[in-house]
Amino acid sequence: MKKITFFIIAVIAFVFNSCSPSVEGETKNWDRNINQLLKLKTDLPAYEGLINKKILEAETIFKSAENISDEDVRAKKMRKANNILSYGCIDNLKNMSSKIDDLNKKKREIEKIIKNKNNSKNDVIYIMTLVENCKNAVKKAEKILNKETEDLDSNPCKKIERAFKGLETTYTETNNAISDLKKAHKEIEEKEKKKEEVAKDIKCEYCGTKNKSTAVKCKSCGANL
Ligand SMILES: [Zn+2]
Repeated sequence: MKKITFFIIAVIAFVFNSCSPSVEGETKNWDRNINQLLKLKTDLPAYEGLINKKILEAETIFKSAENISDEDVRAKKMRKANNILSYGCIDNLKNMSSKIDDLNKKKREIEKIIKNKNNSKNDVIYIMTLVENCKNAVKKAEKILNKETEDLDSNPCKKIERAFKGLETTYTETNNAISDLKKAHKEIEEKEKKKEEVAKDIKCEYCGTKNKSTAVKCKSCGANL
């Protein structure tokens, strides 16, 4: 019970904290966000323009906060500026390559499962589809990262977000499929193991009772097996 109370307090504290920004906290966030984006510009020079645009958009809001005397209102305005830099397409750009790595790992994992002898025909087809989905989602995201997608200059944010979402949903779908398949395979293996054990049972030659293969004496009449 104590643990639960502590947990609830922690959650409330967290929610409360994230609902009421402080000027100090938002200033720290701002510095961190700007530094991250400067690095992102060197990592993804193709997106320098978009990143600059977002920084400018956020900076306008951030600067307008400086004239607000009420601390709460000011902090809220600052948070609004920070959110532009830490959510949405800019955040997606920041995390795109690690998401690609994650999905590639999942793809390799499910590719191993395709070799399992307990797969049904449908399982194999399903796995092949998932592998294809992984490949496509990665390809789309890489194209976006390398700015090879045609017409990316019109509404780039939407396209970045779509590619990112594609990585996420494909990851979840593949991950769920892997655990379902593993569970199914385990069940089949366990059933087979049981069958094998039953097949190995020894029949007592005196009373006909079936005994486990490891038994020395009959469990029914006690005769030596
Ligand atoms: Zn017996």
